[in-house]
Amino acid sequence: MWSLETEACWQLLVDEVMTGMKEWRIQHPRATFQEIEAALDAKLSKLRARMLQDILLASKAAKVSDEVEGERPNCPQCGQPMESRGDESRTLTTNYNQELTLSRSYAHCPACQAGLFPPRRGTQAVVGGLHSERG
Ligand SMILES: [Zn+2]
Repeated sequence: MWSLETEACWQLLVDEVMTGMKEWRIQHPRATFQEIEAALDAKLSKLRARMLQDILLASKAAKVSDEVEGERPNCPQCGQPMESRGDESRTLTTNYNQELTLSRSYAHCPACQAGLFPPRRGTQAVVGGLHSERG
């Protein structure tokens, strides 16, 4: 789970979105539906990127090194348990063009030298989803 500190940070971003939209509306009293939606998306994109990053980092799969052998991911190529190779950063682009940097442990297979990032299939599915094309 993420920390209270993280939640406090999200709350600040939520407040920022609300305040920002109020100000934006005052400045754009005749905005169309599309314009309002675009402004809202732009403001929410910061919040959603931050939440996405925090949730991914807080996930149990974040560190291979914390896991006992047997629970570590197996190599997709040869089936041997993989080893942690320390942290590695990845920068991803989410919907609405927000960049987020994830520092995850990088799994390495000592048997066939295959590398895996991030280590877990479940996590991969989430990260893969970040690249989905939208608007
Ligand atoms: Zn292998």
